[in-house]
Amino acid sequence: MIKPDAVENGHIGAILEKINAAGFKIKAMVMTQLSRNDAQEFYAVHRERPFFGELVDYMTSGPIVAAILEKDNAVEDFRKLIGATNPEEAAEGTIRKLYAQSIAANAIHGSDSDDNARIEGDFFFSGRARY
Ligand code: GDP
Repeated sequence: MIKPDAVENGHIGAILEKINAAGFKIKAMVMTQLSRNDAQEFYAVHRERPFFGELVDYMTSGPIVAAILEKDNAVEDFRKLIGATNPEEAAEGTIRKLYAQSIAANAIHGSDSDDNARIEGDFFFSGRARY
């Protein structure tokens, strides 16, 4: 998911270029805006964290782009491509190093396991498209 800060700052194209150049195939894509319920559900695993309210405020602050990506070893390779959660700690050349504003507004989300990739893909695309 390309997060609200990256969409607002005009980085959709550059980020998709990097994703393609890294060998990922885009299988489904949508631009949409999360409701507060959507954001609370998507990030339910973080609901006890002190930053949960801020996270929901931020994730609902503007449009996002959600996509299903395909590649061998996709989860691990995508996490490498996006870089550490905190852009100050992200490696040179990673999407977060290049485009993130802060640990909160960090440009992009990637699933952290194959199981979560399926759940998160269904969250956006179930009943909407085949992939
Ligand atoms: P990720 O898997 O790298 O996205 O990181 P996490 O699963 O740990 O956190 C989920 C998201 O919550 C991050 O991508 C950030 O957008 C946000 N987040 C993480 N840590 C903080 C924090 O300390 N403050 C705020 N405001 N947001 C945070």
